[in-house]
Amino acid sequence: MGQNDIKLIPFRCPECGEEIDSKEEDCVYFCSVCGLGFQLEGDRFKKVDVIYAKPLKEVGKRPLYYLPMWQIQTTISIKEQYSLNYQDIPEELLINRRFSKLLTGLFKDRNAEKKMIFFVPAFGITNRYQLMDEPGFQFTVDPPKLIGTTPKHMIGAEYTYKDAKELTRVMFLSIQAHTRADILDADIDFVFHRYRIAGIPFYEEEGLLVDGIKGFRIFKDALKNWDEIKKHLKRGGK
Ligand SMILES: [Zn+2]
Repeated sequence: MGQNDIKLIPFRCPECGEEIDSKEEDCVYFCSVCGLGFQLEGDRFKKVDVIYAKPLKEVGKRPLYYLPMWQIQTTISIKEQYSLNYQDIPEELLINRRFSKLLTGLFKDRNAEKKMIFFVPAFGITNRYQLMDEPGFQFTVDPPKLIGTTPKHMIGAEYTYKDAKELTRVMFLSIQAHTRADILDADIDFVFHRYRIAGIPFYEEEGLLVDGIKGFRIFKDALKNWDEIKKHLKRGGK
């Protein structure tokens, strides 16, 4: 598929009747009027909690584009003890003291159990997503306190909650893989608690999209079909 092959299928919000454009690949849809998120399961709609996050950074008058991320509360437990020390943790993770303590505690304590909040992109990404700051990863290392605002026009999610749970494991493994300790075979247990979609505001800055919460960046082409998505969000955006 080329950049311009995006196909929009209009249908109506099951709650308020507002028209919603969706992409062919979408699995979760959002209504810009009542704010509802819903996932189509067979011929039934399953509601999904959504928070549309207010920017926490100064964004001026720049247009904001809301992109969906899964925000998932988990408890992670590891039965074995491993000798993970601070020096085994890469610098980019040590910057956040709370997180490096969490990580060392998790591996070093017997029957350790830690709560972690994961942020996983629900929007369609390309392999370019890995190249800049990876906001999902950064938000997971240091979770922001999101403040809700009124519903916004938001592009549909291409990953379901089930996908997101798998991506959560992958993200945790990749955090682990950053460490120098030999713990990749650790028996890690995930319990998933509450989850919702967090609509994260982004704005354009040259070739990049910058999140309005903490200022992390992705390349525009880290998103599938950014130009089309932008046109779509502008048309419906307020
Ligand atoms: Zn609605």
